[in-house]
Amino acid sequence: MLEIRPTCEHCNTALPNDSDEAMICSFECTFCRTCVEEILHNVCPNCGGGFEKRPTRPVNCTTGNCVEKYPVSSIEVHKPIKQDAFKEVLETFENVEPRNR
Ligand SMILES: [Zn+2]
Ligand SMILES: [Zn+2]
Repeated sequence: MLEIRPTCEHCNTALPNDSDEAMICSFECTFCRTCVEEILHNVCPNCGGGFEKRPTRPVNCTTGNCVEKYPVSSIEVHKPIKQDAFKEVLETFENVEPRNR
């Protein structure tokens, strides 16, 4: 189950469950849209994969599967990118379509 992490891993900006700015990779590395577009260039610094918009866990509990029953994570992951290490990852993945990485 998706963790729904509370913040951007790079800039630590808040990314609540209903945020339109939250982006995740397949490993749930979580960044804000600004970091993904302007700093990461759609390359995850941890795995090299691309990002997609994070879905919102429903508040309405009609199905029994909702944010009240399955709360979002409160654990902040704050690991700002290290420029040198990221440069190498970026060079490897930036020009490859995310589906082909
Ligand atoms: Zn950010
Ligand atoms: Zn990743």
